[in-house]
Amino acid sequence: MLRKLFSFNGGVKPDPNKGASTREPIARLPLPPQLIIPLHQHIGGTPRPLVKVGDRVLHGQRIGAADGNVSSAVHAPTSGTVVAIEPRLMPHASGLSSMAVVIEPDGQDQRIEREPFDWHAATPGEVRDYLRDAGVVGLGGAVFPSHLKLSPGKAGGTDTLVLNGAECEPFITCDDMLMRSEAEDILRGALVMQKMLAAKQVLVGVEDNKPEAAAALKAAAAALGHASLDVVVVPTRYPAGGAKQLIRVLTGIEVPHGSRSTDYGVQCFNVATALAVWNALEHGEPLTRRIVTVAGNVDRPRNFDVAIGTPIGFVFEHAGLKPDTDKLIMGGPMMGIPLPGVEAPVVKATNCLLASSPVLFPPPEPELPCIRCGECARACPADLQPFELYWHSRARNFGRAQEYHLFDCIECGCCAYVCPSHIPLVDYYRYAKSEIWARERDKDAADSARERFEFRNWRAEREKEEKAAKLAARSAAKPAAKPAATDKSPAEGEAAATPAEDPKKALIEAAMARAKAQKEAVAAKNTDTLTPAQQAQVEAAEARRKLAADMVATGSGETTSETATADKPTE
Ligand code: SF4
Ligand code: SF4
Repeated sequence: MLRKLFSFNGGVKPDPNKGASTREPIARLPLPPQLIIPLHQHIGGTPRPLVKVGDRVLHGQRIGAADGNVSSAVHAPTSGTVVAIEPRLMPHASGLSSMAVVIEPDGQDQRIEREPFDWHAATPGEVRDYLRDAGVVGLGGAVFPSHLKLSPGKAGGTDTLVLNGAECEPFITCDDMLMRSEAEDILRGALVMQKMLAAKQVLVGVEDNKPEAAAALKAAAAALGHASLDVVVVPTRYPAGGAKQLIRVLTGIEVPHGSRSTDYGVQCFNVATALAVWNALEHGEPLTRRIVTVAGNVDRPRNFDVAIGTPIGFVFEHAGLKPDTDKLIMGGPMMGIPLPGVEAPVVKATNCLLASSPVLFPPPEPELPCIRCGECARACPADLQPFELYWHSRARNFGRAQEYHLFDCIECGCCAYVCPSHIPLVDYYRYAKSEIWARERDKDAADSARERFEFRNWRAEREKEEKAAKLAARSAAKPAAKPAATDKSPAEGEAAATPAEDPKKALIEAAMARAKAQKEAVAAKNTDTLTPAQQAQVEAAEARRKLAADMVATGSGETTSETATADKPTE
């Protein structure tokens, strides 16, 4: 059946340069002496390490667990020993490091025992969890965790699953070679995804400069015999591999600025991701390897099947890096990023390693002022105004740049490719985006700090109020307690606080009883030990004391001294 195709605005036709790396089939690259596996290789949370230095790990063992649902696990690509968990240089233009698990392979490639997973019987939620734990992410470059995209979504669900095999960027051929060799399993993976999305049809888009891949896919589709599966050859025009552009070409749907294709019932995956889904579900194989195109200034341009974590320098060694190489790029010449060093590892996002030389990519001509010719706007496939974005980004007027839909820019580089003033426009957009993200991060941090401060103040205030309320309650209770105590007879008072109830009182009473007993014992002893003369003196003194008391009682005070004398029995 001939399908009606549509066209997207803009785009360019650079030299494809795909012949050199497709002459030979995919080669499996040997393992390097050390694998550097970054924990964070995808959009979302950084996985938590599950291993420690000195641990022995097996091929396929999970070494980093997904941090929440917007995350994805990472695995050991072979057996060996964890020799470090530390920040290592990442394949990113920033030259920053990120936490990585470093494994020394032991050469045995001993696999972890695979637990069978009956994905046919599992619920869609269980399949999604399994894919998250198998580390499956988008392999077209975006590295978005795939399980998050495999939900039918809102009512109405997904109408179309688009499988992206366009691979429009010059030099990159990893998807082309994969479609040639693994067409059937790619389509099997697509059918699983179709089921999970409850999509009515699957459209596989392949550019017409990949006739072998298109033929292999068509043959595989015929063998599988699914009427809802259609392999569609689309015209070669960069960037036909952009998700919105391919959706436009295949379905005619124009996804507007600020919207997502899922709002229009279309979900899009890369062909390599479909294969990763199939390998994970059918073979219990987590994502530990990927196909990487090595091209440009190398002796043996080719596609390699590379263990994730392999240092980039090791890959280039096998392709024969030429000595006049002046720059290394991850990705293609249009959208690629310069690499900070060959020590950085291959990650899940590494689709191409490109060596540049002054002959292959002559140095850019000097940047001239914008002449407002509008060429960039005509070339923009996202229907943006690139020169406006450039002016506002350059003037650090980031709010205005966002008003011109800066974040709808897919950084395809078409504008810079056609600019007669040789302005590196994409560099300006990347700079503006990173500044906006940094400001948002700073704002988030400031908001969190302010919230913490406000919470502390609120808590202190609340504690103060609680204390004041307690004091008020206590002083309100006091006047009521006093009369209750005085109203009681001593007997009642004692009964109210028996020794058993008041241990302190019991102790005091016991001490008093002991003191009384002691006093009585001393008195008794004294009386017993008096001599008859002393006894007589005591009795005389007692008689005097009595006489004095009688005189006081009758009103005479002259006998006070006598009474006092009588108090001194020993004199
Ligand atoms: S193509 Fe270059 S010179 Fe022309 S308007 Fe755009 S930025 Fe300015
Ligand atoms: S890089 Fe951005 S602004 Fe330039 S053409 Fe591509 S989408 Fe448009």
